Amino acid sequence: MKHKKTVIIGGGIAGLSAGIYCLKNGYDVVLYEKNAAVGGECTGWDRRGYHIDNCIHWLTGCNPADDLYKIWREVGAIDDDVALYREPCFYTLESGDQTLHFWSDIEKARREFLAAAPEDEAELNRFFDSVKMAEAVRVPCEKSLADMNFIEYMRFGMRMAEMGKVIREYGNDTVADLADRFRNGCVREMMRSYFNESYKATALISSYAFYTGGTAGIPAGGSVGMVSRIADRFRKLGGKICTNTCAVKINTYKNRAKSVSFADGSQVECDFVICAADPAVTFGGLLDQRYMDRNLRKMYEAKSGYRVSSTFHVSFGVVGEEDCGIESGSTVCPCKSYTVGTHKFESVAVRMYDYDKTLFPRDRRVIQCNILQDVADYEYWRALYDDKKRYRAEKQRIAETITARITGLFPELANRLILLDTYSPVTFTEWCGAYKGAYMSFYEQKGYKSLTAKNSVRGLKNVVLASQWLTTNGGLPIAVTSGKFAAACIRAADKGHIMEKKTGLCKGDGNER
Ligand SMILES: Cc1cc2nc3c(=O)[nH]c(=O)nc-3n(C[C@H](O)[C@H](O)[C@H](O)COP(=O)(O)OP(=O)(O)OC[C@H]3O[C@@H](n4cnc5c(N)ncnc54)[C@H](O)[C@@H]3O)c2cc1C
Repeated sequence: MKHKKTVIIGGGIAGLSAGIYCLKNGYDVVLYEKNAAVGGECTGWDRRGYHIDNCIHWLTGCNPADDLYKIWREVGAIDDDVALYREPCFYTLESGDQTLHFWSDIEKARREFLAAAPEDEAELNRFFDSVKMAEAVRVPCEKSLADMNFIEYMRFGMRMAEMGKVIREYGNDTVADLADRFRNGCVREMMRSYFNESYKATALISSYAFYTGGTAGIPAGGSVGMVSRIADRFRKLGGKICTNTCAVKINTYKNRAKSVSFADGSQVECDFVICAADPAVTFGGLLDQRYMDRNLRKMYEAKSGYRVSSTFHVSFGVVGEEDCGIESGSTVCPCKSYTVGTHKFESVAVRMYDYDKTLFPRDRRVIQCNILQDVADYEYWRALYDDKKRYRAEKQRIAETITARITGLFPELANRLILLDTYSPVTFTEWCGAYKGAYMSFYEQKGYKSLTAKNSVRGLKNVVLASQWLTTNGGLPIAVTSGKFAAACIRAADKGHIMEKKTGLCKGDGNER
């Protein structure tokens, strides 16, 4: 098989993972990435002597008991020498003189909430019991949900049976509905302040369960460190990476891809192609939309059923080593209202990066504010982006507003914040081709099911997809497993092709006949 050449388009986590599994299966692999570095959305960069970690707030699968752990080890993301930081808390709410924590120690959190809001005792116990049950949630690691037969699907579901009870209780609730179950204003604020209010309540519950169940962690070196370890594994297995190489077209003949064309006019022949770019890029020019999987199409078309979120970021460096009054990790604080994009906000979410001393030594701590945006905001930023002067002025206005809000809340930070960077949802589109600037894939709305699209491409025998976008809610676990499934798909397609040739049933292209 060694001579069979697989071309991968896109060097994010999905593309690198697909490459590693293809190399392990004995294929020649060349990965083409349009940017100067691989990693895609999982990246970070230096500014003014400080480091901005764009991605990993938490990596699911950092527990040896979790199937995902094996995959992260197989692709080189974590190993015995990589320290894993466990945040003590999912996030904190600081509201006036009341502070609430979603502690990773769930009983500690339960006690704190019950003491703060005894009037909500029954509802709080229901919530924390549900978080405990949601620790059973697993990401499929052997096979994509889209490829499981009925028995495999049932077996997989049985492993998460406890989650069924959570879905029965909260399956019809959004985050806003969940918040409205509580009488205490601070608890309500806590529930609705971190995720988009239209997210399903189960998304909040299962995300918190990643912390309480011990599967969430942050590998040393953050996003950039993890990507560089994965890229090293890819290269050590014999893979070749071509950066600054933007694919523009997958050339097909009958039901097979023959070659890939690039923006510089070059072209490479291939036996297989894995499209690991955002599917909005893949089906926005690389391939004709008629090849799109039905479930993927459904998510794009049912706009009120499947939505996307993006963020506007402001990053600051903290001057000096003195205390700044903000706890490590993510804290949400109600504040005087301000506008970003088309939305008004009455709280600010700050994240203090101080846990990884190699990236954020005491005198190089970083504070980031991620401000949630939606499709309407994306369109707003898109229009503004074309007028660079206004775009830059608006980003500066927001940075100044956020500086004022943060220093108002944490006076210890007065005159100690250095603005490092601001970036909008359009930045993600320009940089990675992210659909509507989104940082995760579609999230299903109340009344809509979670969907998974197939890795295989309808009507093309040697082209497969790998991307976080193949399943609702996305994230790094979906990206890395989709890469593994894509490689399995290539192997299956290859075997099928050999069989067809042997049996004389080959309906391939003219070249083979
Ligand atoms: C701010 C932020 C925070 C996040 N936090 C977390 C978190 O805490 N935990 C978590 O699990 N997930 C998190 N995510 C999500 C996570 O980053 C993504 O799920 C994951 O990185 C997606 O990987 P991917 O390979 O599917 O796509 P991408 O990262 O988008 O990779 C696609 C790659 O294809 C390249 N490309 C595009 N077009 C072409 C072309 N024509 N030719 C060649 N190359 C091309 C792009 O440049 C990119 O490198 C976060 C994302 C963001 C933005």
